[in-house]
Amino acid sequence: MIFVTGGAGFIGSNFILDYLVPGRDERLLNIDKLTYAGNPYNLAGIANDSRYLFSQTDICDETAIAALFAQHRPRAILHFAAESHVDRSIASPDEFIRTNVNGTFNLLEAARRYWNALQGEERDAFRFLHVSTDEVYGTLGPQDAPFSETTPYAPNSPYSASKAASDHLVRAYHHTYGLPTLTTNCSNNYGPYHFPEKLIPLVISNAVEGKPLPIYGDGMQVRDWLYVGDHCTAIREVLAKGKPGETYNIGGWNEKPNLEVVHTLCDILDQLKPKAAGSYRDQITFVKDRPGHDRRYAIDARKIERELGWKPVETFESGIRKTVEWYLANPQWVANVRSGGYLTWIEQQYGAQ
Ligand code: NAD
Repeated sequence: MIFVTGGAGFIGSNFILDYLVPGRDERLLNIDKLTYAGNPYNLAGIANDSRYLFSQTDICDETAIAALFAQHRPRAILHFAAESHVDRSIASPDEFIRTNVNGTFNLLEAARRYWNALQGEERDAFRFLHVSTDEVYGTLGPQDAPFSETTPYAPNSPYSASKAASDHLVRAYHHTYGLPTLTTNCSNNYGPYHFPEKLIPLVISNAVEGKPLPIYGDGMQVRDWLYVGDHCTAIREVLAKGKPGETYNIGGWNEKPNLEVVHTLCDILDQLKPKAAGSYRDQITFVKDRPGHDRRYAIDARKIERELGWKPVETFESGIRKTVEWYLANPQWVANVRSGGYLTWIEQQYGAQ
């Protein structure tokens, strides 16, 4: 049995769908509070798979988390659950501190008590894998070397500060108690099931609905982009082969300014779903920049490539085309999320929230 926290979110649900391939003989418990970002509709296709279990639980709930460890005795916990949207962290940071810092602390404490009571092979094999972000390293100048695992932390937003705090707690639990932890710091993901408040799904959805495509500032903020399926493969590799106590940077070697990403999306949409007149680029609107907006992130992924043999399968071009195709093929998913319709589905499945 493995635990996945935040498995109803964007990356967590992609991870679960990729993990539960036919023939894999292991059960998985998804622990998710189902915040606005949690959408179990993503996992409707495996709802009846006997290997898949779901618990609607807040990771901050000490009693409930301890009970889940005692009942299911996992061999590993993969911790994706977080408040993840930078703009929301600027508007109201409280929930970011609660979930990302206190929630991670609570999981670490529960895992430490559980692991302390294990013996022999079970104890040696246990892993706490913490999924984090490259945003903890702060911002780079145009000529700076990409972030490596030894780059000093310099988080600039309440989101990245809360993730940095959680990374430090994970590090300390290994250093102080010997808990077999693994930390991954990944660049920006894109792909199916991405909540349309984030740049790529927002642009695709707004474009086809004829709405403005908002770009912060001059649109020259550079991000490294990784297809979500490649992130999920990397996490599986780290779980299987990563060395306890280590951190691994994960990235796609795909540095792109936001404006270029949006232009690429518009160009693919122009080919796949041409407008009656003009281009989707005509809908681009520049808006006031986000306060404290980091200028550039770039990831040096050589450690995971060298030590664990991981490499992304998708190029930016292939991954972004696949992503646009997925959104065009799944208008019902987008409509459900954008209308809040999936909340009705949750209510039917799990009762009123
Ligand atoms: P997301 O916002 O799509 O999903 C987060 C999930 O966590 C949701 O299902 C939500 O319901 C759940 N959750 C939130 N608070 C909870 C709580 N208190 N208890 C239990 N569940 C709770 O996020 P995502 O984009 O899938 O990111 C997953 C992880 O990966 C995060 O830790 C994030 O920091 C990290 N990460 C994301 C990216 C990216 O580009 N999206 C890149 C690098 C790292």
